Amino acid sequence: MLNKLVKKIFKDFSYFIWLFVLVLVCLLSFSIYSNNKKQQKYLISNSLDNIYLIKTVKELTTNLKPRYVNINYISKQGDTYESIISNIGITSVDKKTFLKSIKQKKDLKILGINQKFQFKIDKLNSNKLIEFKIETDKKNQILFTRNAEDQKFTHKTLKKNLRKEINYKESVISNSLYTSAVDIGIKPNIIIEFARLYGFQVDFQRDIWKDDSFQIIFEEFVDNNGNVIDTGNIIFANLNLRDTDLQLYRYEYEKNKYDFFDENGKSIKKTLMKTPINGARLSSPFGKRKHPILGYNKLHTGTDFAAPMGTPIMASGDGIVTRARWCGGGGNCVKIKHNSTYQTVYAHMSKFAKGIKKGARVKQGQIIGYVGSTGLSTGPHLHYEVIENGKKINSQKLKLPSGKILKGKERKNFEVSKIKIDVLKSELIYNLN
Ligand SMILES: [Zn+2]
Repeated sequence: MLNKLVKKIFKDFSYFIWLFVLVLVCLLSFSIYSNNKKQQKYLISNSLDNIYLIKTVKELTTNLKPRYVNINYISKQGDTYESIISNIGITSVDKKTFLKSIKQKKDLKILGINQKFQFKIDKLNSNKLIEFKIETDKKNQILFTRNAEDQKFTHKTLKKNLRKEINYKESVISNSLYTSAVDIGIKPNIIIEFARLYGFQVDFQRDIWKDDSFQIIFEEFVDNNGNVIDTGNIIFANLNLRDTDLQLYRYEYEKNKYDFFDENGKSIKKTLMKTPINGARLSSPFGKRKHPILGYNKLHTGTDFAAPMGTPIMASGDGIVTRARWCGGGGNCVKIKHNSTYQTVYAHMSKFAKGIKKGARVKQGQIIGYVGSTGLSTGPHLHYEVIENGKKINSQKLKLPSGKILKGKERKNFEVSKIKIDVLKSELIYNLN
């Protein structure tokens, strides 16, 4: 009887009993949790004061520095494999192995300009060269990997799987060439090359007017996802300045030698540039003047261009560096011998460009140093001198012979290549619409 009663009470109140148990469990677990948290906090704050732990953390983070580092390099005019590898900071044994490995590949016999290098170095193993990659062209690279057994390098060619695209872009120059070009998606490399091509004829600070425009055909290398991985050559360029077209066509005038010519087959290159610096202001002309520091009248034997500190200075023509050192009043200066007639001098540089030293060969437009105010100078500027047959002359009045003019058979070939480019241009423009 009693048993039955208890069962009935249990049955009637079972929900309440279960609820009570549940609340109890909740309260208990919450109290355990908060207690635990308090203890954790205490432990952490305690350990942070622990000098031993601080030391361990420090040691751990310093040991987290990567064991392998990749060093990237892009070859420049005047580079050799020897000069490149000597700047990488590996042992002389590894340098020799590198040079020996390269000789195995015919594609690498001639070192080009703008070839990409990547070196993988083991920091924990006395800067050992583990592997290296050399780009042979925009689509291929050769990977050299070190065998663990004989320590020699084996190589294989890697296809980069890039697709070459030829693009056409045009724009009115609203503010500056650079911003107008960036606005329509042209990569900086192409813009810099474009500006360099016109550097002989156009001063981008002074000669560009509102509503001047440009057209450009150039190559880009695109991966499978359509991302632009690299830029290639400019094939055609036109700069329309106050309704005058300055057209340039890329043309292979000798096997593997390319240059830009105008529509009449005339190379755009002049023997020397009048202004071997971009974005500068002529601040002091050639001629008699009161010297700003010495105070007395003296012939100013060059032309001064005021420009911000660090502005790149270009070689005004192809030639050989005959001086790259401190020249007293001229500060850090570079002298280039172009041919038996002409030499040029660039003074007051803040520093020389990499690889610029006595005996180095330079190409017109190549950066040789940077604007500074070294030597007898009142502010950052380039002092530029042109020496003709040993005599300093006014570079701004110089009638410079222009470069190559294509004639005869060469001219005929150029005309064919020009028509091809013009057809390509019309197609690209047609595809835009
Ligand atoms: Zn000067």
